[in-house]
Amino acid sequence: MNAEQQVSTAWGRQRIKRDQIDKYLANGRDFINEELIHSQLAAAPGVPSPQQVRDILAKSLAIQDLTPDEVAVLINVNDPGLLEEMRAAALAIKLKVYDNRIVTFAPFYLGNYCVNRCAYCGFNNDNCTAQRKVLSQEEIKREVAVLAGDIGHKRLIVVYGEHPRNDVDYIVESMQTIYSVRIPTRHGQGSIRRVNVNAPPFSIEDLKKINDAGIGTYQVFQETYHKETYARMHPQGTIKSDYQWRLYCMHRAMEAGIDDVGIGVLFGLYDWRFELMSLIYHTQELEKRMGVGAHTISFPRLVPALNSMIGPDWKYLVNDADFRKIMLIIRLAAPYTGMIITAREKSEIRNEALLMGVTQMDASSRIAIGGYSDVVTAQAQDKQQFILGDTRSLDELIRDFAHRGFITSFCTAGYRCGRTGKCIMDLLRSGAEGKFCKLNAILTFQEWLDDFGSAETRSIGLPLIEREIEQVKARNPKVLELFMEYHSRIKNGERDLFL
Ligand code: SAM
Ligand code: SF4
Repeated sequence: MNAEQQVSTAWGRQRIKRDQIDKYLANGRDFINEELIHSQLAAAPGVPSPQQVRDILAKSLAIQDLTPDEVAVLINVNDPGLLEEMRAAALAIKLKVYDNRIVTFAPFYLGNYCVNRCAYCGFNNDNCTAQRKVLSQEEIKREVAVLAGDIGHKRLIVVYGEHPRNDVDYIVESMQTIYSVRIPTRHGQGSIRRVNVNAPPFSIEDLKKINDAGIGTYQVFQETYHKETYARMHPQGTIKSDYQWRLYCMHRAMEAGIDDVGIGVLFGLYDWRFELMSLIYHTQELEKRMGVGAHTISFPRLVPALNSMIGPDWKYLVNDADFRKIMLIIRLAAPYTGMIITAREKSEIRNEALLMGVTQMDASSRIAIGGYSDVVTAQAQDKQQFILGDTRSLDELIRDFAHRGFITSFCTAGYRCGRTGKCIMDLLRSGAEGKFCKLNAILTFQEWLDDFGSAETRSIGLPLIEREIEQVKARNPKVLELFMEYHSRIKNGERDLFL
């Protein structure tokens, strides 16, 4: 072990607070009961009958959560006609709960130093060829200038490895720096209005600091819920090898006051059927114990990384057909939960995902540290965690979605008006959230098209807005006057107006 590794190991030892795991256990056990999940999978009919499937879909369409037993039934559907019915139901739920809106964001990698040695990740400590870097506050400002000033992003997910150099104080400072940047645009000022954080698990005390810095969603993926596989992927002695420290980080986050939490699985490490059931158990546990389920579910699929220990013949890699089924079942089982698909996936799959109930996608993504202000356009395998599948710019993505009748929302009003956590879930359940969100989506879409849209994208986006306004006139007459006033003020150059 070199001197740097010794310091990191000493730092790592005092991170895990056992009492902040034990307090959430029930009779000394966590909520992932492997035997139960395996038995539920085994008990599900191998070929579910159309009636069984349709009964479950009727429940989903009534916007009710599915039970793990019902999820196990859907997992076994392979009949093309029934899969088509699942697809139609998923889209219907998406339109009912979220309407034709899609939210975009950019991933922003700030530091790739990491003390862990995850078998699948290009940032793992054993990877000597990775170029390590933590951005300085000045470098962060340069990156945000491109993200908010040139591309027009309003939301980021900031990503950190686990290391003393990018610990909680750095995370807090970097978030403050990001929020402080203001860049002149065609008609106003570009700025980041919501910073979501993908970072390692923290203690309640550290999570309070991150909450005070204005976090949007706190996102941590369990990677795999299967304990034996988890132990194989995360070598003993590393901080990340503690399964339960990770499993309960969202309980701690909610206790620290963070309302919106994002869970996920890295699909491809273990059997996707088991992982999908566990995701459902996780969000339902949060709802039961902490009062509100996951705000978002992510389902990243393993992609090759430099010096990764998992090769192309690993037995659990997920094919496209199963991946589509995973997306459908998440939408059907957790109708209110946001679903995020990232640019790890190719554009064809992401376009399909739009019609399967996904609610958030990244665009113009660069995942090399300092990648946005770097003039080199090619992906750099020694600087990034993995290679991206969809390199469309935000302008292209918005145009493609507008062609399909979807409007891109840059709304961050909910978070800034306190419509988060349980409040937003209750609004979604009552159908009231759609009213605010649709109107704010139109306003922010107009703002983005005026500030950043290319002529080609504006030629498709502006007629779409006109059609949406006609719908508002028919459906929301009560707020029409105020909405129309805000809309014309935005067209005249005012910014950041929301209802
Ligand atoms: N270090 C933090 C952690 O591990 O929680 C957060 C950053 S990590 C870079 C973010 C996520 O990237 C991980 O949770 C993992 O799911 C995902 N990831 C890692 N390697 C990957 C790969 N080869 N393909 C796809 N996703 C990967
Ligand atoms: Fe580090 Fe996260 Fe990569 Fe694991 S997944 S090596 S913890 S950056």
